[in-house]
Amino acid sequence: MATIVQKFGGTSVGSIDLIRNVARRAAACRQQGNRVVVVVSAMAGETNRLLGLAREVCDLPHHREIDVLVSTGEQVSIALVALALQEAGVAARSLLGHQVRIVTDDAHGRARIQTIDASAVIEALELGEIVVVAGFQGVDAEGSITTLGRGGSDLSAVAMAAAINADVCEIYTDVDGIYTSDPNVVPGARKIARIGFEEMLELASLGAKVLQARSVEIAMKHGVRLHVRSSFHDGEGSYVVPEEEVMEGPVVTGVAYDRNTAKITVCAVRDDPGVAAQLLRPLGEAGINVDVIIQNVASEGHTDVSFTVPQNELESALAAIEHAARTLGSGTVTSDAHVAKVSVVGAGMRSQAGVAVAMFEALGAAGVNIQMITTSEIKISCVISEGSTELAVRALHEAYGLAMEPA
Ligand code: ADP
Ligand code: ASP
Ligand code: MG
Repeated sequence: MATIVQKFGGTSVGSIDLIRNVARRAAACRQQGNRVVVVVSAMAGETNRLLGLAREVCDLPHHREIDVLVSTGEQVSIALVALALQEAGVAARSLLGHQVRIVTDDAHGRARIQTIDASAVIEALELGEIVVVAGFQGVDAEGSITTLGRGGSDLSAVAMAAAINADVCEIYTDVDGIYTSDPNVVPGARKIARIGFEEMLELASLGAKVLQARSVEIAMKHGVRLHVRSSFHDGEGSYVVPEEEVMEGPVVTGVAYDRNTAKITVCAVRDDPGVAAQLLRPLGEAGINVDVIIQNVASEGHTDVSFTVPQNELESALAAIEHAARTLGSGTVTSDAHVAKVSVVGAGMRSQAGVAVAMFEALGAAGVNIQMITTSEIKISCVISEGSTELAVRALHEAYGLAMEPA
């Protein structure tokens, strides 16, 4: 008897018919003799709708109350899935984050899971029930509801799989696997049968939202095998597995993009030791992730510093940085909300020269101007204007020949 966690995303539970489809799949898996835990997201569009309601009430809503509000989306889904299962004659029970006990820190909106006490889940499984768990949510030490960040139901599923030592964590979604790039942007994208944790983590961190980045991190840490597949039809999807199980791949495995990017430039910053830290510290304190950073060559003791932050945090980032820039006697602060980051990822890059040049050439030939560049061992990213995102992603996919099956 295998233990299987099945996670269904928003589009997979977007209507009552689809809820019935989820129940059918879970019941079939149970019928085959497996122990089944289903983790579900809110119905498609629901989390955004709830966030919109909060913004109608106030401009900067308190994160704790936002979590109380947005976590209701998943509560609706688990109840409907459990009801659909019971209606089909299958024993099932729904559990909220605090009932499972998924305990997190108190960083509302981006909480980290600290422990999972899965005894309630295991008890129900032993009774032969299908357990339907709310994704995206947990509870902090004070008993307040927390959420795990957008796309966080993937993380709930993987953490659950690790906690109950599941044989596999199946991620059911609206595409039938992991592709060389977003198949909704690149029509010629190719499905990848198996990908290593490390490359998948990099792709997800750089914007490939088919898996939430932290879910891949936890899967890698606990050795949870992921199977990303379609909730609409049968057939194999893509497996995320330890690196040693993947044959040596092409130099570049995939192209990712992140539109949730904004650029801030601080002019005339004093070129002295410690100044960069003083300038950027308030962002760290506000929990804002500073990504690509470039500093120009100094002239006359001053330099310009540019960096990117998530576009949805631009306002709070500007508030923090303007204060720091004034205190340091720096020049003007400007920002551009309409940039995006495009990246190429591949473990084979470590041993191959010329990958970056090929990227710059491809973007140049497509007429896309590069504003910032950053590299690491297995990725190269360029910040470009947001309007050119699709053009750039397609050009890179083409330039590295990703549509073709690797030799
Ligand atoms: P869910 O609601 O099921 O969690 P998401 O919308 O979060 O689904 O993730 C699925 C989407 O991820 C797909 O519709 C696709 O547009 C996007 N995506 C981005 N990059 C990739 C990729 N490399 N492979 C597959 N899908 C991708
Ligand atoms: N409902 C949450 C979101 O929209 C979590 C998820 O879908 O994974 O971000
Ligand atoms: Mg998702």
